[in-house]
Amino acid sequence: MQKLFCVGPVEMDREILQYGEGALPYFRTEEFSALNLEIERGLKELVYTKETSKVALLTASGSGAMEAAVVNLFDAKDKVLIVAGGGFGERFVQLCVMYGIAHTVIRLNQGQALLPEHLEAYKNQGYTGLLLNAHETSTGVYYDLKMAGEFCRREKLVFVVDAISSFLADPYFMDEWHVDLTIISSQKGLALPPGLSVIVANEGCAERIAAMPVKSFYFDLNQYFINMERGQTPFTPAVGILLQLHARVKQILEQGVATVIHHTHEMADDFRRQLQGMPLSIPSESLSNALTPLRPTGKHTAWEIFLRLKEEHGLIVCPSGGACKDTLFRVGHIGCLTKADHDLLIEALRAL
Ligand SMILES: *Cc1c(COP(=O)(O)O)cnc(C)c1O
Repeated sequence: MQKLFCVGPVEMDREILQYGEGALPYFRTEEFSALNLEIERGLKELVYTKETSKVALLTASGSGAMEAAVVNLFDAKDKVLIVAGGGFGERFVQLCVMYGIAHTVIRLNQGQALLPEHLEAYKNQGYTGLLLNAHETSTGVYYDLKMAGEFCRREKLVFVVDAISSFLADPYFMDEWHVDLTIISSQKGLALPPGLSVIVANEGCAERIAAMPVKSFYFDLNQYFINMERGQTPFTPAVGILLQLHARVKQILEQGVATVIHHTHEMADDFRRQLQGMPLSIPSESLSNALTPLRPTGKHTAWEIFLRLKEEHGLIVCPSGGACKDTLFRVGHIGCLTKADHDLLIEALRAL
């Protein structure tokens, strides 16, 4: 038995797991359309956006949705700002390079928070968009979306937020924060299997997408929006995950999104409190509730800790890749975890 303290996939709720067990229904039916339309309505409610916003259900991991957002919104006539404080910010950079979109990268150090002056340095310079990860999962830094949204509103930038690892872990107010396009993925806070991603675009953003010629067949978002008007997708969707998403959205709406976020906040808080006195530091100026990044200051490297927790205790934390392999590991607080699970992890960390 393993216990996942990861950011995706994460521990799933038993009841939701059951929705993935049965035979799959055929999906070009009125019944399945009704289910998709309920998902659409529910997701808009969860991100706090108006009814007039558009939803695309993509069968792809989160990076597919990032690619869809970039290729549908920008082209060679644009000039975008990208905040890159780690691996997921760099992914936006790679996408802009690949699609020939002019861009400026605001590179932040590991753990560094986004401040108003980082953005203000680029005002009145003809930028047309800002690409931002709400939470840079690779290093565990949560960015100030409200401040960034205010900058985008003033500068008339299209504001694209990859909320993948922050959605349902931290408060998120799409319209109030002037976010034009939100990216979500199934395997993080939603605690579903990987394979499904969601794009929510406000009305103005959907109009911009409809007016742009798009250089992608599978990721033509306008086709997804048009199909969604009747509760359908242009291609075969991840039918099983949609059944689970439907149940999960309903469950969250019943509990209240604030309650779900509060639970994750309590979990993160409890874990961080229990770390006191251990040879671990938290190298981040601004934390999401989704995860705690940890730098070992004792005798073991991060990679050794990851391996020992896995092999000796069946507890899976997130290791880091590349340059951070030995210096950083991450403990996720999303998914179906309890304080008793945290206690197990703390005990294992103490025993190292
Ligand atoms: C997980 C994640 C993604 C998506 O990664 P995939 O492996 O493609 O699902 C994108 N952005 C952030 C911030 C993430 O945490």
